Amino acid sequence: MSFFDMPISGAVEKIVKGELSCLEIVEKALGAIESKDQKLGSFISVQNEKALSRAQELDGLSAEKKRSLPLLGIPVGVKDNICTLGVETTCASRFLEGFIPPYNAAVVQSLERAGAVIVGKTNLDEFAMGSSTENSRYGVTKNPHSLEHIPGGSSGGSAAAVGADLVPATLGSDTGGSIRQPSSHCGVIGLKPTYGRVSRFGLVAFASSLDQIGPVAKDVRDVGLLLSVISEADKRDSTCAGKVFSNSPQHYNGAVDGLRIGIPKEYFGEGLSQGVREKIEGVVSSLQNMGATIVDISLPNLKYAIATYYIICTAEASSNLARYDGVKYGFRSKEQNSLDQMYMQTRKEGFGSEVKRRIMLGTYVLSSGYYDAYYLKAAKVRTLINRDFNEAFEKCDTIVSPVTPAPAFKIGEKSMDPLQMYLTDIYTVSANLAGIPAISFPCGTIEDLPVGVQFMAPQWREDLLLKTAYAAQVSTA
Ligand code: GLN
Repeated sequence: MSFFDMPISGAVEKIVKGELSCLEIVEKALGAIESKDQKLGSFISVQNEKALSRAQELDGLSAEKKRSLPLLGIPVGVKDNICTLGVETTCASRFLEGFIPPYNAAVVQSLERAGAVIVGKTNLDEFAMGSSTENSRYGVTKNPHSLEHIPGGSSGGSAAAVGADLVPATLGSDTGGSIRQPSSHCGVIGLKPTYGRVSRFGLVAFASSLDQIGPVAKDVRDVGLLLSVISEADKRDSTCAGKVFSNSPQHYNGAVDGLRIGIPKEYFGEGLSQGVREKIEGVVSSLQNMGATIVDISLPNLKYAIATYYIICTAEASSNLARYDGVKYGFRSKEQNSLDQMYMQTRKEGFGSEVKRRIMLGTYVLSSGYYDAYYLKAAKVRTLINRDFNEAFEKCDTIVSPVTPAPAFKIGEKSMDPLQMYLTDIYTVSANLAGIPAISFPCGTIEDLPVGVQFMAPQWREDLLLKTAYAAQVSTA
């Protein structure tokens, strides 16, 4: 099942032909949210009226104008760390409760220009820090396949909303796996684009050298369509390269003959559950049957990826989150006898414990006595990881790996053990450290819980990811 039972482009065609109206579709999404989301908790807020009036406005456009809108009338959920003009953007934090941005993020502008209707803001771990969507001020999001299990994180709301067919697509953000990991746990497709592909303007910063916004959907073609819409050039983000992804039917011809798929031995060693390993082997052998060649490769510095990631992301977070001081915007504590006390009390009350842990870790690794030993060392190892990928991509076109070591865990199972939680990111963080694109594609279930396979490609080669994932989609259809 999926929201439309056809790719988004098919639904848009029907609207253009007058067989469907934007209003009908948006009402369907709002109805699904109303009836199912109380249990699931995938949305923090829903903009009913705004969405309905926008749908009516779109229905009133001329036929010619309608034909020019690739996402005409498509209801989309946007992660609540992406700024929406006039609509509260909380980052699932007490700190930003009531914060109403005076501008839209670049991706929101792009979506709206393409005719999409933003129906609501999806739940996440506070400031996108986490792997389970348990660190949200607005409650835990549940896995649509089993309400006792986590949906993954930090874009758990975005993945669960698509998994439960509340909307056909959402946007998430991915700093170390936050689009791919919840997509894997919820049985949907999530793409982290190349760093610099999508503008970060209006994305609330967590770790700026790693953060990237990307799409979540149930059909590979929808993921490609959304990427082409949100990858517009943007001068307001100096790291946005202005390389618009051009979506082409050629990406979806299912042809993988001659494609060299690299299998990194380090990704299939200790710690990977047998069930996940078998599912991935299944995908690999169907791609092989379709003509792909398998190449053994090695990424020797993978063993340092988690440590490197958690030094770099906490360092950047400690600096990015310094702006929440109770003065510029957001929360301010009532206890404020002096300026210093106001700062301290505000940060103490405004942030949740995982965010505080990261700020403290980050401040530590950047402090003068430890900078060389931790931050500088991590920056050097990041270069080595990058080099590993460059060398590997001389031998193969895409790399295949697990997304997570095991299917979704139970709610509460790891919340008291942050290190265990951090270790679940082992297979996803290196794509962010290297800035390369990566996709998670569903490859079966283990005891009714979905499992994903990850494909990674060289910078700017999202086309290869879509091609490979589409071939996998065809082979499993
Ligand atoms: N789980 C990782 C973390 O907690 C990744 C988060 C993300 O990608 N935003 O840092």
